[in-house]
Amino acid sequence: MDVQLPAVETAQRPPQAQVLPMRGARQPGSRDADSLAQLVLANLADALKLGASDIHFESASRGLVVRYRIDGVLETVCEAGGGEMAARTIAHLKTLAGLDGAVRRVPQEARGTIRVNGRRVDILLSLLPSLHGEDAILSILDKRRLVPAGEVLGIEQLGFTSVDCAQLRSLATQPYGLVLVTGPAGCGKTTTLYGMLSEINDGRDKIVTVEESIEYELPGILQTAVADYKDAGGAGMAGALRAVLRHDPDRIMIGAIRDAATAELALHAAQEGHFVLAAVGGNQVFDAISRFARFGIDPAALADALNGVVSQRLLRTVCPHCAEPVEPPPRALAALSLPPEAASGGFRRGAGCGACRTTGYHGRRAVAEILVVDERLRTLIGQRAPLADIRAEARRQGMQNLREAALELARAGLTTLEEVARVTRQG
Ligand SMILES: [Zn+2]
Repeated sequence: MDVQLPAVETAQRPPQAQVLPMRGARQPGSRDADSLAQLVLANLADALKLGASDIHFESASRGLVVRYRIDGVLETVCEAGGGEMAARTIAHLKTLAGLDGAVRRVPQEARGTIRVNGRRVDILLSLLPSLHGEDAILSILDKRRLVPAGEVLGIEQLGFTSVDCAQLRSLATQPYGLVLVTGPAGCGKTTTLYGMLSEINDGRDKIVTVEESIEYELPGILQTAVADYKDAGGAGMAGALRAVLRHDPDRIMIGAIRDAATAELALHAAQEGHFVLAAVGGNQVFDAISRFARFGIDPAALADALNGVVSQRLLRTVCPHCAEPVEPPPRALAALSLPPEAASGGFRRGAGCGACRTTGYHGRRAVAEILVVDERLRTLIGQRAPLADIRAEARRQGMQNLREAALELARAGLTTLEEVARVTRQG
């Protein structure tokens, strides 16, 4: 059976990608499989060129929908009709990944490597049941995405302001104690953790990471995944962390604190003279403190160990090729509860051009709220003061919240008010 390639400009080119068989992969043989392979490969080559982080193959009522996540936002790139198209494409992806095509409507994951235009790219395929069948997400774990070739990863490359960089560097270079990084999925937490580790990686300290999965390689740092420890020290992050602590590292990065046992170990290590850098779920800096309280951690112990908390977001930046001055529309101001006089400033927007695929945005940069714990805050946290009091003290110190930091970027014409509203949604 012939399969029509989607009628989008990018997919009409001959695909430049070649899939290396993943472990246990069966080779597609039929013409049908070849056509599907072409569709998948064309999408991969295209997504890589555009800098997409994931490709979504979705089963919809009208057939297959392919969407790319670029700069954190999904864009539909093609729809291919026919009820069977989605099922066959997803079955093909499973075959490529060495998964059993007959197993349907069950969450599955597989990792592998593909070669695209002569470059090896690590990918992760995740499958989920959905209303109209199954959805597949092909995540591109491109290690080169972190920093341009030849550059060393540092905090500056992440797009933080110079004030933020100075604070992050100061937190990263403390000899011991706990630093937490928080924010929703996809806000760049891992990259910031890596950036902070790279700042202190001078070869004199033993630095070990325990990660849920290793997303990027950092030269000179011993990176380990939770799964590496399944036979030692018990299951999960806490077991892995216990095993790592026996090796007495100077600096430890914890990919995610999700349970009380891990939180307690992290805190204990920080109190014992280790430097611990960890990601924890939450939206704003104070959520990290309340999360530790919910884990049943003694606030006095947290106050004793905590050096700082960073919450961050990634904002899409205005495309430099089509940027033009703009007076913010009243509804954009109202959406952010800003008065009309807030419209003055150097606001810009992208009119849309070929370089930004008419989105008006090109690339992203980080904004952060950074809580640096000084003696006054230490006392308040240790005394279980209400979060409102802790927040008031942090504001008195001059801590900027995420929305204020993002608005500053909009006023400087680097992003738009719409993007500020999208990324710093409150409540
Ligand atoms: Zn543009």
